[in-house]
Amino acid sequence: METGERSRPEVGTEVPGGGGGGGGGGVSGEPEVRVGGAGLLGPSGRNGKTVVCARCGSTVLRPGAALYSRRELFLPSMRQSTALGPGNSSVEGDVLQEHWLVDDMYTFENVGFTKNVNSIKYLTCADCEIGPIGWHSLDDSKSFYIALKRVKHE
Ligand SMILES: [Zn+2]
Repeated sequence: METGERSRPEVGTEVPGGGGGGGGGGVSGEPEVRVGGAGLLGPSGRNGKTVVCARCGSTVLRPGAALYSRRELFLPSMRQSTALGPGNSSVEGDVLQEHWLVDDMYTFENVGFTKNVNSIKYLTCADCEIGPIGWHSLDDSKSFYIALKRVKHE
């Protein structure tokens, strides 16, 4: 009789992002991502820390609320949102590549929107109105981007 029967250690397979919101492409395996900063990326490719306004500290996203996403987006330089209107077409800014992606605007704790600039709305801090901290296209109602470099993580 063999007594030393051991069951193999089972690796718990975690299902990323359980609950609601289907439609994500079935990617097998965890994509290797390098986030510009230590410890920003939590489990399942989501934000591991609270995303806050870099200026006033107002909470924008709770931990785990957004997915890390790489996409080249142009964001004008930071300023008060009153100066971000359609009248200012020749704006300086940066092409940013690292973002937190949210598919529902109600996921945000606090966020403001500028008026449309072409079919783009910029996201701003709801409290101090500094921005843009993020980007949204009217052509894609389920994609709201928050640029990692425009916010702080606590
Ligand atoms: Zn703020």
